[in-house]
Amino acid sequence: MPVYKAEAIVLRRTNLGEADRIVTLFCRDQGKVAAVAKGARKPKSRLSGRLELFSHVRLLLAVGRSLDVVSQVDVVHAHSPLRADLERLGFAAFAIELTDRATADREPAPEIFESLCGALEHMQEADPQLVALWFVARLLVHTGYAPVTDQCQVCGRVVRGTSAFSYALGGTLCEADRHRDPDAIVVSAGALHMVGGLLHAQPPALGTLTPDRKLRSEVGGVLQRYAEYRWETKLKSPGVIAALARPARTQRRVN
Ligand SMILES: [Zn+2]
Repeated sequence: MPVYKAEAIVLRRTNLGEADRIVTLFCRDQGKVAAVAKGARKPKSRLSGRLELFSHVRLLLAVGRSLDVVSQVDVVHAHSPLRADLERLGFAAFAIELTDRATADREPAPEIFESLCGALEHMQEADPQLVALWFVARLLVHTGYAPVTDQCQVCGRVVRGTSAFSYALGGTLCEADRHRDPDAIVVSAGALHMVGGLLHAQPPALGTLTPDRKLRSEVGGVLQRYAEYRWETKLKSPGVIAALARPARTQRRVN
């Protein structure tokens, strides 16, 4: 069997048979790949503990008839703090679920891989909710769906203040054109400004953002629903969705 090297984030795991596991890997160069980790659930297996959710790994994969086979794994970053804290776990789960929905099998998307690595890395220390919001914004940019937050999507006129936002048209609408999408929602000027900023921010800059609870919830709602609309999906983790609308723990402590 031909073998190849891959660098990946573990997106999903399911049990197979008595001791095997199927892992969905998001690989930097190969895109999303499902592979069998034989014997991975046996405590003494050399794969055991190395294919945890969110882990950043380097692998050797053998090309299989239907699924490729994991033959070797080295952990680059275990990202274990993400599994030790419920809130971080929720936001990290949200990031990998979105990545899974927004990407296709075997379609390389190295820029999404970089953003996902950055998001998981920063979620370990920084405010995980803000990092999750940033990640949705980056994913929209990388897939060509960045929402327009300051211009009418129909006539191009500059839009200021609280405005209509259309998921279907991918951005704001002016007063005269808001009837073009009866499903357009009303979004505050603050939320539009924050979404616009997140689209091109770098994770270290997120520390300078101090959105209050209401703004976090509004931005989280808009980005999530827009992402769900674009990828024609409903995120399976309603607990996680609720968590996005909740103030982060650090925020609660300050208040
Ligand atoms: Zn217009």
